[in-house]
Amino acid sequence: MRVSNVFLLDGGPGDRFLIDTGHVLERPLLLAGLRASGLSPRELTGVLLTHCHSDHAGNAAYLRRTFGVPIIAHRRDAAILEGFEAAPSLVSRTGDPFARLFCAIENRTRTRVVVDRALEGGESIAGLEVHHVPGHTRGSILFRHVATASLLSGDALLAAVPPLTIVQRMCLPHPDYAISLDDALASLRAFLAKDLPFENLLAGHGRPILGGARARASELLCAA
Ligand SMILES: [Zn+2]
Repeated sequence: MRVSNVFLLDGGPGDRFLIDTGHVLERPLLLAGLRASGLSPRELTGVLLTHCHSDHAGNAAYLRRTFGVPIIAHRRDAAILEGFEAAPSLVSRTGDPFARLFCAIENRTRTRVVVDRALEGGESIAGLEVHHVPGHTRGSILFRHVATASLLSGDALLAAVPPLTIVQRMCLPHPDYAISLDDALASLRAFLAKDLPFENLLAGHGRPILGGARARASELLCAA
Protein backbone atom coordinates (compact mmCIF):
# COMPACT_ATOMS: atom_id res chain seq x y z
CA MET A 1 0.00 0.00 0.00
CA ARG A 2 1.22 3.60 0.23
CA VAL A 3 2.83 3.53 3.66
CA SER A 4 3.16 -0.08 4.75
CA ASN A 5 3.14 -3.37 2.91
CA VAL A 6 0.59 -6.11 3.44
CA PHE A 7 1.25 -9.54 1.95
CA LEU A 8 -1.30 -12.24 1.19
CA LEU A 9 -0.11 -15.82 1.45
CA ASP A 10 -2.80 -17.83 -0.33
CA GLY A 11 -2.54 -21.57 0.02
CA GLY A 12 -6.25 -22.08 -0.74
CA PRO A 13 -9.25 -22.37 1.58
CA GLY A 14 -8.25 -22.73 5.24
CA ASP A 15 -4.71 -21.63 4.45
CA ARG A 16 -4.95 -17.93 3.64
CA PHE A 17 -2.98 -15.51 5.76
CA LEU A 18 -2.33 -11.81 5.67
CA ILE A 19 1.05 -10.72 6.88
CA ASP A 20 0.38 -7.36 8.59
CA THR A 21 -2.66 -5.17 7.97
CA GLY A 22 -1.40 -1.64 7.32
CA HIS A 23 -2.41 1.62 8.99
CA VAL A 24 -6.05 2.31 9.75
CA LEU A 25 -5.97 5.17 7.20
CA GLU A 26 -5.05 2.64 4.52
CA ARG A 27 -8.07 0.42 5.20
CA PRO A 28 -9.77 1.27 1.86
CA LEU A 29 -6.59 0.22 0.03
CA LEU A 30 -6.39 -2.98 2.05
CA LEU A 31 -9.99 -3.92 1.25
CA ALA A 32 -9.56 -2.97 -2.41
CA GLY A 33 -6.45 -5.13 -2.59
CA LEU A 34 -8.29 -8.10 -1.14
CA ARG A 35 -11.17 -7.57 -3.58
CA ALA A 36 -8.69 -7.43 -6.46
CA SER A 37 -7.33 -10.80 -5.39
CA GLY A 38 -10.87 -12.21 -5.47
CA LEU A 39 -11.14 -12.72 -1.71
CA SER A 40 -13.52 -11.54 0.96
CA PRO A 41 -11.86 -10.81 4.31
CA ARG A 42 -14.06 -13.60 5.70
CA GLU A 43 -12.01 -16.10 3.70
CA LEU A 44 -8.84 -15.23 5.58
CA THR A 45 -7.55 -17.95 7.89
CA GLY A 46 -5.62 -15.49 10.03
CA VAL A 47 -3.51 -12.37 10.29
CA LEU A 48 0.16 -12.75 11.16
CA LEU A 49 1.62 -9.58 12.63
CA THR A 50 5.32 -8.83 12.27
CA HIS A 51 5.02 -6.43 15.23
CA CYS A 52 2.65 -4.18 17.15
CA HIS A 53 3.15 -0.77 15.50
CA SER A 54 0.04 0.95 14.20
CA ASP A 55 1.19 1.09 10.57
CA HIS A 56 1.34 -2.74 10.58
CA ALA A 57 -1.34 -3.81 13.07
CA GLY A 58 -3.73 -0.89 12.42
CA ASN A 59 -6.53 -2.89 10.78
CA ALA A 60 -6.19 -6.07 12.84
CA ALA A 61 -8.99 -5.22 15.29
CA TYR A 62 -11.29 -4.30 12.41
CA LEU A 63 -10.63 -7.59 10.59
CA ARG A 64 -11.14 -9.57 13.79
CA ARG A 65 -14.28 -7.72 14.88
CA THR A 66 -15.99 -7.50 11.49
CA PHE A 67 -14.97 -10.73 9.81
CA GLY A 68 -13.85 -12.96 12.70
CA VAL A 69 -10.28 -13.24 11.44
CA PRO A 70 -7.96 -14.62 14.17
CA ILE A 71 -4.92 -12.51 15.05
CA ILE A 72 -1.48 -14.05 15.59
CA ALA A 73 1.49 -12.17 17.03
CA HIS A 74 4.53 -12.72 19.19
CA ARG A 75 3.80 -12.99 22.92
CA ARG A 76 5.85 -9.89 23.79
CA ASP A 77 3.96 -7.65 21.38
CA ALA A 78 0.65 -9.39 22.16
CA ALA A 79 0.93 -8.09 25.72
CA ILE A 80 1.15 -4.55 24.32
CA LEU A 81 -1.59 -5.05 21.73
CA GLU A 82 -3.92 -6.38 24.42
CA GLY A 83 -3.06 -3.55 26.84
CA PHE A 84 -1.49 -5.72 29.56
CA GLU A 85 1.86 -3.97 29.12
CA ALA A 86 2.57 -0.33 28.33
CA ALA A 87 4.31 0.19 25.03
CA PRO A 88 7.76 1.75 25.45
CA SER A 89 7.73 5.33 24.14
CA LEU A 90 9.49 5.91 20.86
CA VAL A 91 12.12 8.62 21.21
CA SER A 92 13.60 10.29 18.15
CA ARG A 93 17.38 10.20 18.56
CA THR A 94 18.43 11.50 15.15
CA GLY A 95 16.49 14.77 15.23
CA ASP A 96 14.91 13.97 11.87
CA PRO A 97 11.71 16.08 11.85
CA PHE A 98 9.63 13.44 10.04
CA ALA A 99 10.78 10.75 12.44
CA ARG A 100 9.98 12.99 15.41
CA LEU A 101 6.46 13.51 14.08
CA PHE A 102 5.89 9.81 13.38
CA CYS A 103 7.21 8.84 16.83
CA ALA A 104 4.78 11.32 18.45
CA ILE A 105 1.87 9.94 16.42
CA GLU A 106 2.74 6.31 17.30
CA ASN A 107 3.12 7.17 21.00
CA ARG A 108 -0.38 8.69 21.03
CA THR A 109 -2.26 6.24 18.83
CA ARG A 110 -1.34 2.74 19.94
CA THR A 111 -3.12 -0.13 18.27
CA ARG A 112 -5.21 -2.39 20.48
CA VAL A 113 -6.44 -5.84 19.46
CA VAL A 114 -7.12 -9.20 21.09
CA VAL A 115 -4.48 -11.72 20.03
CA ASP A 116 -5.89 -15.20 19.45
CA ARG A 117 -2.58 -16.99 19.24
CA ALA A 118 0.69 -15.82 20.79
CA LEU A 119 3.95 -17.05 19.28
CA GLU A 120 7.33 -17.63 20.92
CA GLY A 121 9.50 -18.13 17.85
CA GLY A 122 10.44 -21.49 16.38
CA GLU A 123 6.94 -22.30 15.15
CA SER A 124 6.01 -23.01 11.55
CA ILE A 125 2.72 -21.67 10.13
CA ALA A 126 1.57 -22.06 6.54
CA GLY A 127 5.09 -22.74 5.31
CA LEU A 128 6.50 -19.78 7.27
CA GLU A 129 9.18 -20.22 9.89
CA VAL A 130 8.76 -17.87 12.83
CA HIS A 131 11.95 -16.16 14.05
CA HIS A 132 11.81 -13.84 17.09
CA VAL A 133 14.06 -10.82 16.48
CA PRO A 134 13.55 -8.37 19.37
CA GLY A 135 14.86 -4.83 19.02
CA HIS A 136 12.58 -2.84 16.76
CA THR A 137 9.88 -3.93 19.20
CA ARG A 138 10.16 -6.57 21.92
CA GLY A 139 8.06 -8.99 19.92
CA SER A 140 9.26 -8.36 16.36
CA ILE A 141 9.14 -11.41 14.12
CA LEU A 142 10.79 -12.42 10.86
CA PHE A 143 8.81 -14.91 8.80
CA ARG A 144 10.90 -17.00 6.42
CA HIS A 145 8.83 -18.51 3.61
CA VAL A 146 10.82 -21.61 2.88
CA ALA A 147 9.26 -22.56 -0.48
CA THR A 148 10.10 -19.22 -2.12
CA ALA A 149 13.25 -18.43 -0.09
CA SER A 150 11.64 -15.15 0.96
CA LEU A 151 11.96 -13.21 4.17
CA LEU A 152 8.98 -11.20 5.40
CA SER A 153 10.67 -8.79 7.74
CA GLY A 154 8.26 -6.11 8.94
CA ASP A 155 10.51 -3.31 10.17
CA ALA A 156 13.35 -5.58 11.32
CA LEU A 157 14.93 -5.16 7.87
CA LEU A 158 13.64 -2.54 5.44
CA ALA A 159 13.43 -2.13 1.68
CA ALA A 160 13.15 1.66 1.72
CA VAL A 161 14.88 4.46 3.59
CA PRO A 162 12.61 5.48 6.49
CA PRO A 163 10.71 7.48 7.57
CA LEU A 164 9.48 8.02 4.00
CA THR A 165 9.68 5.38 1.31
CA ILE A 166 10.81 7.56 -1.60
CA VAL A 167 14.29 6.05 -1.74
CA GLN A 168 14.00 2.31 -2.28
CA ARG A 169 16.91 0.20 -1.09
CA MET A 170 17.62 -2.27 1.67
CA CYS A 171 18.17 -0.67 5.08
CA LEU A 172 18.82 -1.73 8.62
CA PRO A 173 16.20 -0.75 11.24
CA HIS A 174 15.85 2.99 11.81
CA PRO A 175 17.25 4.10 15.21
CA ASP A 176 14.29 6.40 15.90
CA TYR A 177 11.68 3.65 15.70
CA ALA A 178 13.57 0.90 17.52
CA ILE A 179 13.15 0.18 21.22
CA SER A 180 16.83 -0.82 21.08
CA LEU A 181 18.85 -0.51 17.88
CA ASP A 182 21.64 -2.60 19.45
CA ASP A 183 19.20 -5.41 20.16
CA ALA A 184 17.69 -5.12 16.67
CA LEU A 185 21.12 -5.48 15.05
CA ALA A 186 22.13 -8.32 17.41
CA SER A 187 18.88 -10.14 16.55
CA LEU A 188 19.55 -9.77 12.83
CA ARG A 189 23.12 -11.02 13.24
CA ALA A 190 21.87 -14.02 15.23
CA PHE A 191 19.32 -14.78 12.53
CA LEU A 192 21.90 -14.58 9.73
CA ALA A 193 24.25 -16.78 11.77
CA LYS A 194 21.64 -19.57 11.48
CA ASP A 195 22.66 -19.70 7.81
CA LEU A 196 19.12 -20.15 6.54
CA PRO A 197 18.76 -19.38 2.85
CA PHE A 198 16.66 -16.50 1.58
CA GLU A 199 16.94 -14.63 -1.68
CA ASN A 200 14.00 -12.23 -1.55
CA LEU A 201 13.11 -9.55 0.98
CA LEU A 202 9.45 -8.64 1.46
CA ALA A 203 9.81 -5.86 4.01
CA GLY A 204 7.19 -3.81 5.79
CA HIS A 205 8.17 -0.75 3.78
CA GLY A 206 9.52 -0.49 0.24
CA ARG A 207 9.10 -2.63 -2.84
CA PRO A 208 10.07 -6.31 -2.71
CA ILE A 209 13.78 -6.96 -3.28
CA LEU A 210 13.98 -10.02 -5.49
CA GLY A 211 17.31 -11.82 -5.47
CA GLY A 212 20.51 -11.34 -3.50
CA ALA A 213 18.75 -10.23 -0.30
CA ARG A 214 20.72 -12.36 2.12
CA ALA A 215 24.10 -11.24 0.75
CA ARG A 216 23.05 -7.58 0.87
CA ALA A 217 21.77 -7.90 4.45
CA SER A 218 25.10 -9.42 5.49
CA GLU A 219 27.00 -6.53 3.86
CA LEU A 220 24.87 -3.96 5.65
CA LEU A 221 25.37 -5.65 9.00
CA CYS A 222 29.12 -5.93 8.50
CA ALA A 223 29.29 -2.20 7.82
CA ALA A 224 27.06 -1.26 10.79
ZN1 LIG B 1 7.49 -0.67 13.29
